Amino acid sequence: MTKLSDPSLLDRTRDHVVRYLDALPSRRVAPLATREELLAALRVPLTESGEAPAAVIDSLAGAGERGTLATAGPRFFGFVIGGALPVSLAADWLTSAWDQNAGLYVTSPVASVVEDVAREWLLELFDLPREASLGFVTGCQMANYTALSSARHALLRRQGWDVEERGLCGAPPIRIVAGAEAHVTIHTSLRMLGFGTAAIRSVATDAQGRMRPDALEAAMREAEAPAIVCAQAGNVNTGAIDPLREIAGIAREHGAWLHVDSAFGLWGRASRDRRPLLDGIELADSWATDAHKWLNVPYDNGIAIVRDSASHRAAMTVSAAYLEQTSGVERDPVDWVPEFSRRARGITVYAALRQLGRRGVESLVDNACARARQFAELLVRDRRVAVLNDVVLNQVLVRFGDNDALTREVIARVQREGTCWLAGTTWHEMAAMRISVSHWATSEEDVERSAEAILRCLDEAAR
Ligand SMILES: *Cc1c(COP(=O)(O)O)cnc(C)c1O
Repeated sequence: MTKLSDPSLLDRTRDHVVRYLDALPSRRVAPLATREELLAALRVPLTESGEAPAAVIDSLAGAGERGTLATAGPRFFGFVIGGALPVSLAADWLTSAWDQNAGLYVTSPVASVVEDVAREWLLELFDLPREASLGFVTGCQMANYTALSSARHALLRRQGWDVEERGLCGAPPIRIVAGAEAHVTIHTSLRMLGFGTAAIRSVATDAQGRMRPDALEAAMREAEAPAIVCAQAGNVNTGAIDPLREIAGIAREHGAWLHVDSAFGLWGRASRDRRPLLDGIELADSWATDAHKWLNVPYDNGIAIVRDSASHRAAMTVSAAYLEQTSGVERDPVDWVPEFSRRARGITVYAALRQLGRRGVESLVDNACARARQFAELLVRDRRVAVLNDVVLNQVLVRFGDNDALTREVIARVQREGTCWLAGTTWHEMAAMRISVSHWATSEEDVERSAEAILRCLDEAAR
């Protein structure tokens, strides 16, 4: 009989992985190879009869890892990315080995049951309505899409319109109201839902990027049609959280559906210190978040949560006679997500939550927030540095010499120098460096080293 495993190949791969991860803390964070170098190493002719598996893996590991940005390391502070906890990486390997199609209970009982359990744990951790439904998607963009599909279904059904059957042509109007600093993926999701970005009524935000309740109230008074309000917990630049209790009150008064894009902010609910910032988030109708960012599971992993599970299911379910294989109690993941066949994404989330426990998730969040504050404190000791935001979460916005060109030059130098990696942004018409701390292992020493490197690059750029 053919043996299905190839232990020596897996051991070899494991050795590559261990070497890669152990080298990350001392490696330059930026990619080590250019596109040309990567092509030169990887663009081999597609052979007639193939190559030995070990040769393929050695070449990928050897040449390929020179083309990684070291996001899995503790001094990567770009975007909001996060690394992978050892337990979630291990669970991801199991997921690959099991190779389950997690669409249906019959195709993977374990994936279905693990999702059931992870759903309960997540709702408890976030303290959201325990009856809410939840789907594991590829990322927060698809989580926003899934939640907003449920909103579209609910608001149109209330007006006697079955959008799943009849589509949007000729449908009663729906108003979309979103903060001026809503994440781009809210716009993409609305585009995919057939609303078009022109349908969005943008609501003014304050100095930290939070939606202003007075401006929301005015927008709602103008709206003649039922509305979907898109709020945000965790502005991608400042980390700021919208005043959710007030927003929820206004949304309720106007019969609107309240959605909260909380890609990383929702994890603040697991921290007793951060929780007050998110007060009122439990009053929303839907939430979108990511596990691949702050929970530190490997890419890709997003989570859509909807209070009214009937709307969620109606927007996502697939019905076909050949799928009806179960009694009805079993979870068919396909009912809660846009995908049909899919990876068993719940498994890494289950493993991470089970290993960390409530206090473990809390320390993950608190540590990142403390490291962000440490960054801000170390950098502002230099009088050429300004921190533009209130550091309430894990994001720090930094500007050098109150000068766009200098700020961009520092960012470019930091990226080349390689101690850490950060990206730039434009914040209220000013160039800024954006620091996001989302890795489980980032230590005080990592932040000290990175702050020193940033200030050294500032010295050089200022010359
Ligand atoms: C990252 C992010 C998203 C998009 O999430 P993906 O996982 O990249 O799809 C949406 N909203 C906010 C606020 C984010 O930070």
